[in-house]
This record gives sequence, C-alpha cells and structure tokens, in this order.
Amino acid sequence: MFPNPFLGDRIDVYWIVGLSTDIRHATDILPGARPSGDWVPTLCERWIRLPFPTVAGRRPATEEILDQCPQCLEIAEARECFGVLWDF
Ligand SMILES: [Zn+2]
Repeated sequence: MFPNPFLGDRIDVYWIVGLSTDIRHATDILPGARPSGDWVPTLCERWIRLPFPTVAGRRPATEEILDQCPQCLEIAEARECFGVLWDF
C-alpha cells in the first residue's frame, strides 16, 4: 500500500456494529449518509447492514461492544486512518 499522495488529508473511518454482528468493523461510509438497514462495505471487504437508531433516552446496546475486527484494524492502521467509534 502506497502512502496517501494527498499529504495532510486525514481519512476518517467509522467503527460500527452492523446488524446481527457482535464486533466492530470499520467503514469509510459516513454513518447517517445512508438509511438504516442499508448494506455498507467494510475495510475488510465484507458487507454489513447499518443498524437502526436507538430509541431516544436509551443507550445504544452496541456501546458495550469494543471488539474490533482484526482485518479492519490492520487496514486502518496501514492507511493511517483516524478511527471514530460510532453507535446509532
Ligand atoms: Zn472488518
């Protein structure tokens, strides 16, 4: 992997827990840019579905999940991505 030619450009990735998964994958798709239930690609080249938003006043059930997909992590580190934990 060659370094990003656009020096200074920070790549953000979002660590999200897809529907029916119990691990965080990283995606460069901005959550909120796609509707819930939509399939989005992960850095490890899987597809996960965006979860539905948590009811107001409750904490997202995914908040406790901190396990990160090792392949996504490896790719995110190689690309020097800035990771954001994101719950819905
Ligand atoms: Zn992954």
